[in-house]
Amino acid sequence: MHPILQLLDGVLDEVRPRTEGATAAYIPELAHADPDPLAFAVATARGRVLSVGDDRVEFTMQSISKPFVLALALHELGRDRVLAHVGVEPSGEPFNAISLEEGTGRPANPLVNAGAIATTSLIAGDDIDTRTARIVAMLSAFAGRSLWIDEAVYRSESATGDRNRALAHLLRSYGLLGSEVDPAVETYFRQCAVLVTVRDLAVMSATLAFGGVNPVTRERVVSEDVARDVVSIMSSCGMYDSSGEWMLRVGLPAKSGVSGGLVAVSPSQFGVAAFSPRLDAHGNSVRASAIVERLASDFGMHVFEPHEAVAEPGIEVDEGAEGTTVRLGGELGFAGAEFVVTMLRETVAARGADAAAITVDARELARLHPAALAVLRTELAALGGAVRLRD
Ligand code: GLU
Repeated sequence: MHPILQLLDGVLDEVRPRTEGATAAYIPELAHADPDPLAFAVATARGRVLSVGDDRVEFTMQSISKPFVLALALHELGRDRVLAHVGVEPSGEPFNAISLEEGTGRPANPLVNAGAIATTSLIAGDDIDTRTARIVAMLSAFAGRSLWIDEAVYRSESATGDRNRALAHLLRSYGLLGSEVDPAVETYFRQCAVLVTVRDLAVMSATLAFGGVNPVTRERVVSEDVARDVVSIMSSCGMYDSSGEWMLRVGLPAKSGVSGGLVAVSPSQFGVAAFSPRLDAHGNSVRASAIVERLASDFGMHVFEPHEAVAEPGIEVDEGAEGTTVRLGGELGFAGAEFVVTMLRETVAARGADAAAITVDARELARLHPAALAVLRTELAALGGAVRLRD
């Protein structure tokens, strides 16, 4: 067995005995779902998808669809037009709360139901089918395969979805829906009923982790800016009213859904997804949350963990006929630029005034942050003619 699979399997075995919690009761089809499946998947930068447990079991996305439909809305309309209809503050309230901003009526954020219904209503299309088809196409691009709707779950939610319909009427009364109530709500119920496996979700999450490019199909699905906006909102609002504690304990932007799925994004590292239908009091899957928490702590994946590579960039020194060349590799940020400058200052001081010039070659850098370039330019200029920058 692959060593990473072995590790994932170990995590799965650890959480398997936990059977507390219950399937979502308010959507009849979900209430009757088998509570036992347990699965876990990781999608990597090179598009490898590693999965363990019941990784072929399909379940409906529910709220996990929200960040991806938000991505579509941001992609189509831009940030300002979307934010005119929905806020970006954690609500601190349950997912189906009537948490609308005083005065404007804007829902707190796009990841609670009211905000998601507002977001979905912005997706263009003449009728419910056209809107749904465009959303499913986007979700499919994120997943890298064609996804389908579970009609039984859709009908079950539509037949019992009075609370969401009421939210949509309220939004409409504030002028915040981009459509009539029915197209908004029925399209929203359909997006929630899109079927996925944990493997699909891991790829979808990895697409956000890698700046909007699906690592399996290599297709750019959304821009880097859109992916970053979505991940930011997930980090503050993705886990219902336990989002703050989740960020503290786990430190990965995430989104859960009432069918028991969970996605988490480790920016530039991997996408992860877990599935187990029993939910805690906040509506988050008990075992899926435990799996991701364990993975984040074992792998040291908290986003605010210090990263030494950022502070100490790749440096190669060549002593040639025309003097010394310092070649920079990898990614150079503010901290790394400071490291380079300190090293050059020390070298210049040690060599004395008449030493041969040093050339700093920044052309091979995979990424040069604007702050790092500013530091290099100003600090190297201060060293006088002793050091030249090639960028
Ligand atoms: N379709 C569900 C609802 O609107 C999604 C809720 C969730 O997954 O949090 O109630």
